[in-house]
Amino acid sequence: MAETVFDVAIIGGGPAGYTAAIRGAEYGLKVALIDNSPRLGGTCLHVGCIPTKALLFNAEIWDHLNHAAEFGIEGMGTPTLNWAAVLKRKDAIIANHTRGLDFLMKKHKIVVIKGSGRLTGPALAGVHTVDVTAPGSESSQVKAKNILLATGSEAKMLPGLKPGDRILTNIEILSLPQPPKSLVVIGAGAVGLEFSSIFRSFGADVSILEFLPRIAPVEDEEVSKELTRLFKKRGIDVNTGAKVEKVEETETGVKVSFTDANGKPQTKEAEKVLVAVGRLGRTENIGLEKTRVELERGLIKVNEAQETAEPGIFAIGDIVSGLPQLAHVGAMSGMVAVAKIAGRSFRPVRRDRIPGCTYTEPQIGSVGLTEAQAKEKGYEVKVGKFPFAGNSKATILGTHDGFVKIVSDSKYGEILGVHILGPQATELIAEAVAVLELEGTVEAMMFTIHAHPTLTESLLDAYGAVEGMAINA
Ligand SMILES: Cc1cc2nc3c(=O)[nH]c(=O)nc-3n(C[C@H](O)[C@H](O)[C@H](O)COP(=O)(O)OP(=O)(O)OC[C@H]3O[C@@H](n4cnc5c(N)ncnc54)[C@H](O)[C@@H]3O)c2cc1C
Repeated sequence: MAETVFDVAIIGGGPAGYTAAIRGAEYGLKVALIDNSPRLGGTCLHVGCIPTKALLFNAEIWDHLNHAAEFGIEGMGTPTLNWAAVLKRKDAIIANHTRGLDFLMKKHKIVVIKGSGRLTGPALAGVHTVDVTAPGSESSQVKAKNILLATGSEAKMLPGLKPGDRILTNIEILSLPQPPKSLVVIGAGAVGLEFSSIFRSFGADVSILEFLPRIAPVEDEEVSKELTRLFKKRGIDVNTGAKVEKVEETETGVKVSFTDANGKPQTKEAEKVLVAVGRLGRTENIGLEKTRVELERGLIKVNEAQETAEPGIFAIGDIVSGLPQLAHVGAMSGMVAVAKIAGRSFRPVRRDRIPGCTYTEPQIGSVGLTEAQAKEKGYEVKVGKFPFAGNSKATILGTHDGFVKIVSDSKYGEILGVHILGPQATELIAEAVAVLELEGTVEAMMFTIHAHPTLTESLLDAYGAVEGMAINA
């Protein structure tokens, strides 16, 4: 391998890295993928998107079973939770997709190299060298004309805390031997909210402590407000403006001391605490100091083709500055980078075209500008809002919580943002992403036929609501 010069060597085999590897091979590039985890797939497949969504689906079924009589299903007795079986199913889903990735690497003749990759400096005569070290084996070197950095991220910890069996990150919480009876969740971004939703469904007393004035802080304010109301209705204790001061282990669990929104000292005790206060880019120990790669608050600065300031070195996925840390953003940024390398046309990743999904009960799906952001940008904003209460499919599903909100520009009628809270919001948002990508207008969408009875009709009604002409509300 020492003599092979790859077109691209990718450091990191998560969704950003493996997607770039496959697309690169599809373009006919010679690709090496270096990864230091036991299996390919990164955070997303092993301790992120996939296991959380598996548990959320268990939680959804559990919630339905607890309301079975409402659907005319009786005589089942009291459902009991076999947690070991829940975890086994989650692990089987991960294993299945890990095997799928191994298959795809072979299919595309991608050379997978196990170990930690580290840059050695700028390219010499157009060829970069990456040192690869793996425990128990000799270090080696990989040579390539281009490098993609895709080393991802890990959970941020609060100062002085170490994860263990009571103080948890997304990693430990995914393999607890039993669901906790009580849980404090620090941080109300998507990760904190999803675990709150899962364990509340399974009966835990859940308290959320969020430093900012609202939960789901990146979402439209009305979404945060309604989700807060619905979480409280589910019995989740939501505390915003809460500044965590101390987390201590007690004899039976943990005690979290915080200052509440009124400046008063408070404490919450629970069996476990989840720290979900954001993710740190893995930019250390990868040899950046030997290059011109620039960092911005610990993340890598790139241009619209994902190129760093060092020629031939690209960055994709969670380590990139200025983009949300999401698997689909990582995957698309990888596809952009290899298109550039292969000399193919591409469209840069646009911040305002990225769907944001939170798979809680109820779900959030959003894309584009919030109402406040659109106003800040100087648009003359026209908003339409339609509640799921008026949607017949939502009635059939037995859930009326939430709404669809359209943010549009009154001058040309262009749709600038769509914000959905409610059933299947994470699926419904796909229509809105396409609408924004194609610069759709309210009028065009008001005359776009949506099948009946579907949840998508709530979007049709919301487009109509922009002009004060919803049908079902
Ligand atoms: C609990 C949770 C739930 C989430 N849910 C969602 C969701 O539903 N939808 C969504 O879009 N996003 C979700 N995310 C975010 C998503 O997981 C990340 O955005 C995504 O995994 C980032 O992909 P990546 O390829 O950049 O990095 P990662 O997935 O972190 O992969 C990086 C890979 O690089 C390897 N690596 C690191 N350093 C080196 C090195 N020096 N040499 C070789 N290999 C190295 C790592 O071992 C890892 O395999 C979730 C995250 C969490 C924590």
